Amino acid sequence: MLDLLIENGLVVNASNTSEAAIGISNGKIVQIGGASPEARRTIDAAGMLVLPGGVDVHTHLDAPGAGFNTADDFRSGTIAAACGGTTTIVDFCQQARGQTLREALDGWHAKASGKAVIDYGFHIIVVDFNPGVEAELGGLSREGVTSFKLFMAYKGAQMVDDRTLVRTLAQARRSGALVMVHAENGDAADFLVEQNLEAGNTAPRYHALSRPPRVESEATARAIALAELVGAPIYIVHLTCQDSLDEVMAGRRRGVDVTAETCTHYLYATKDDLARDGFEGAKWVFTPPARTEQDQAALWRALSSGALQAVSSDHASWSFLKHKQLGRDDFSKIPNGAPGIEERLTLVYQGVNEGRFSVNRFVEMVSTTPARLFGLYPQKGSITVGSDADLVIWDPNATATIRQENLHHASDYTLYEGRKVRGLPMTVLRRGEVIVENREFVGGEGGGRYLQRKPYDRARL
Ligand code: MN
Ligand code: MN
Repeated sequence: MLDLLIENGLVVNASNTSEAAIGISNGKIVQIGGASPEARRTIDAAGMLVLPGGVDVHTHLDAPGAGFNTADDFRSGTIAAACGGTTTIVDFCQQARGQTLREALDGWHAKASGKAVIDYGFHIIVVDFNPGVEAELGGLSREGVTSFKLFMAYKGAQMVDDRTLVRTLAQARRSGALVMVHAENGDAADFLVEQNLEAGNTAPRYHALSRPPRVESEATARAIALAELVGAPIYIVHLTCQDSLDEVMAGRRRGVDVTAETCTHYLYATKDDLARDGFEGAKWVFTPPARTEQDQAALWRALSSGALQAVSSDHASWSFLKHKQLGRDDFSKIPNGAPGIEERLTLVYQGVNEGRFSVNRFVEMVSTTPARLFGLYPQKGSITVGSDADLVIWDPNATATIRQENLHHASDYTLYEGRKVRGLPMTVLRRGEVIVENREFVGGEGGGRYLQRKPYDRARL
């Protein structure tokens, strides 16, 4: 007897759509289609799409910032994720100076364990590249941490030099890991920030003007060139603009294995949002900054064409009334980041409504491809016999107006207040267990498991 049967839904994978019942036992998908055996519980998904749960590979939960941690910890952050249809995250574990990568990883395990309500993995942000770290990179890859992130900006904090970047890329290639880069020229950005502050330009909108597209595209080009020199794959996080897209395409034409994501907010915000009345614009201070409507259109086209592979949230939830106020008199002191872990799927889905791409392509960008690139496929990111029963029952006709009061994160605002959307996650299953019902979290404490990820192997993606 099955634990659960989902009947009458339209099953959507990245590769195909089919009308089929899904049988679940012991947290796994054990049957798709065929005769319906008996089950302890049956869910009628008539009129609904059944999607693999979202996979968000760019989140910052319980992450340190300017003297405090993000509003969301692993409990509130993963509840918000689940309510938005995301059932797996890969969060950024950040090494502190003087720490080994192992110590950093232990710290992140302690943050997530017993709190996360969905499954999670970790990328490690390498900040301090001492000789021990180079050796650790290989060892950790063999234990399921198969991606590392480097910052090319924020000098004196996370920023690394090109020597570290190229050595990490070379080591990652040997150990089957994928290097992710925050691509911005940190020195150039710092110069423009100083110039603006000296001129008395302290308002939030100068954040965008201090980090123009060329700051990003120069670093994007450099990171791709360094990956090319050592034959390593590279993943560009939060790509925002046409200039950087051009560099990614140029790298690919030379044969570099370069993949890239954009984030939800770059599809909806522009730099004009940073110039909103009063200090409101601080809500839109994230890095790299939002660009122009032309760049937005270019990103949507790149999602349609396949030039961009994924959409992540870059969820970094600072509260407006508390954290963001730090930068009232100096935009460079505004904590960088915005919430979006819950809004991601429904906002990308609007591209389906608008005829920009298919629902299969939607699934590919928010679930399947991130799972593949980060060593989780087909356990995650696919409705396949043997996969975890992480499923979203999606109502393509349900409408809502996004309101802060209806979201589940611990931040005090949403970038999308008042935006009308069509297409919403109604019921969400984590390994066969219903944790969201009728858009509300009904799961218990914790329940999320740490995910050991497979090495990056382009030939097997
Ligand atoms: Mn970043
Ligand atoms: Mn980030």
